[in-house]
Amino acid sequence: MIVYINGEFVKEEQAVVSVFDRGFLFADAVYEVTTILNSRLIDFKSHMTRLRRSSAELELLLPYTDDELLTIHQQLIEKNNVNEGLIYLQLTRGNAGQRDFLFPSKSVEPTLVLFAQKISIIENSKAKAGIRVVAYDDIRWQRCDIKTTSLLAASLAKQYAYSQGADDAIFVKNGLITEGSSSNFFIITQDNTLKTRALSHEILPGITRQAILALAKEQKLSIEETAFSIEEAIAAKEAFITSATSVVYPVIEVDGQKVGQGKPGLLAHRLREIYIQAMSVP
Ligand code: PLP
Repeated sequence: MIVYINGEFVKEEQAVVSVFDRGFLFADAVYEVTTILNSRLIDFKSHMTRLRRSSAELELLLPYTDDELLTIHQQLIEKNNVNEGLIYLQLTRGNAGQRDFLFPSKSVEPTLVLFAQKISIIENSKAKAGIRVVAYDDIRWQRCDIKTTSLLAASLAKQYAYSQGADDAIFVKNGLITEGSSSNFFIITQDNTLKTRALSHEILPGITRQAILALAKEQKLSIEETAFSIEEAIAAKEAFITSATSVVYPVIEVDGQKVGQGKPGLLAHRLREIYIQAMSVP
């Protein structure tokens, strides 16, 4: 695989980051994951806008224009011959030369790494069959709106879900669902209202969340950005998660209890189809 590191495209074995890189020592880093469909990037601008916001929140230098970042993304797609998949981008505060909690001086160059991964987005078994999720205490920090590489809580949550025979975990804070371990979470109530948690420091402002809400609005669905509980999710007609790489996965079970008929919901399916169609238009 050809990866990008600090201005160069190299074979993955040749891409090296210092042990003193703050991304490695402190998870002092932000990231983005952008979907590739038909060798094209989906919602690229929105991902870069969020990247700029994440880095600004951490006072992390991002000395690249959107056009430069776009070129790097496109070259990676080409060099690795990716038709369907993702590009992962990670920006760290760089190699501080020692381990120190304080930020290094401004002269330290940030580390920028990007790589591509081929994955099936359209033909996807989870999108077809739906997923089973379990609740997990939201033990994350209080700035979940910043897309940092500090992902241990999400990893623990997913590991717990797998140990329970489920596909994924959803975080619960003070009795209310915040979001999925690496996705946003939606329900459709029995009276056909689409509900998802409102934006705050407690969730990541998902690019797919934003796109799905816009499409739902176009479809004249009733929408409420509000908090709800596990019990409300189980009592819902449908539930689903959204993220760049899953797009929309129907949720058919929460904590071992069926949502609706325990089958992928119609509206989740429709929103997925409409979004994929919109993404496929050049
Ligand atoms: N919430 C969390 C915690 C995530 O990690 C992600 C994606 O990785 C999302 C939501 C979905 O964001 P997006 O739709 O931009 O992929």
